[in-house]
Amino acid sequence: MKVRVLGAAAGGGFPQWNCRCSNCRRLRQGSLKGRSRTQAQLAVSADEKSWILLNASPDLRAQIESTPELWPASSIRHSPISSVVLTSAELDAVLGLLLLREFYPLQVYATASVRRILTEDNSMFAMLHRVEGQIRWHDLPASGKLVIDGLTFETFSDPSGFPGFVNEDRAQTLDQSEAVVGLIVGDGAKVAFVPGSANMDAALLQRLSNCHTVLFDGTFWSDDELVRVLGGAKHAREMGHLPISGESGSLRQLASLTQQRKIFIHVNNTNPILDEESAEFAETRRAGWEVASDGDTFTL
Ligand SMILES: [Zn+2]
Repeated sequence: MKVRVLGAAAGGGFPQWNCRCSNCRRLRQGSLKGRSRTQAQLAVSADEKSWILLNASPDLRAQIESTPELWPASSIRHSPISSVVLTSAELDAVLGLLLLREFYPLQVYATASVRRILTEDNSMFAMLHRVEGQIRWHDLPASGKLVIDGLTFETFSDPSGFPGFVNEDRAQTLDQSEAVVGLIVGDGAKVAFVPGSANMDAALLQRLSNCHTVLFDGTFWSDDELVRVLGGAKHAREMGHLPISGESGSLRQLASLTQQRKIFIHVNNTNPILDEESAEFAETRRAGWEVASDGDTFTL
């Protein structure tokens, strides 16, 4: 199985268009040792001919163009992309679907609640159903197993909520367990893709310990990161993200995973680990973690 990181940043990307935090400012000036990153996006393939997208980021068009494996390879209309698996209805995870509206047959896997939010509440997504055989929706269980294009997918529910644009009344009509799912992909050596996780428990730790490679929520270094940078904002946990540092942060909670390749993905532009000369980056590397960059490729 091939795993390709098309984008490694959290929402907004790095740098973010309206951000002048220390990281974004120094990256623009050329004085930061680190790389720009597009918004989180993965592609996986069993045979390197047919590819499955994990989520559909707002940067998807550019991400496809910078990845020759994903270019049309035959006939006037073709794509090696067969399917898209959505982990939530967050804009960063679904906006890219609208960029794939050029009448090409695609299989899209999402929980029933995520599909209903997109197709019943957001009329723009009707652009994906203008001709017969364009996008076909498949139910993704919030917790279960299925085979997509030769790869086994195991899903598990993350108990964080629906996106901010889903109002309370609507959320009441949906299944909370279907709001966010984590993915474990593969048959022999497995890769975990958990771009958003506010909760770590024994069951999740056990799941991750069965994986060869763990791509985990690296959004924020500290719980109050945005509060400090912006002078008022939500805490990481309130936004559905376990911070990396601290007593109950992911570095400590996942320290028992010593046999896995551990990689932070979905890294927010304010996170000091994006600065390769920072103490936080050094601490992350000492703890055995890597920080994902656009273009990283893993063979499992
Ligand atoms: Zn910034």
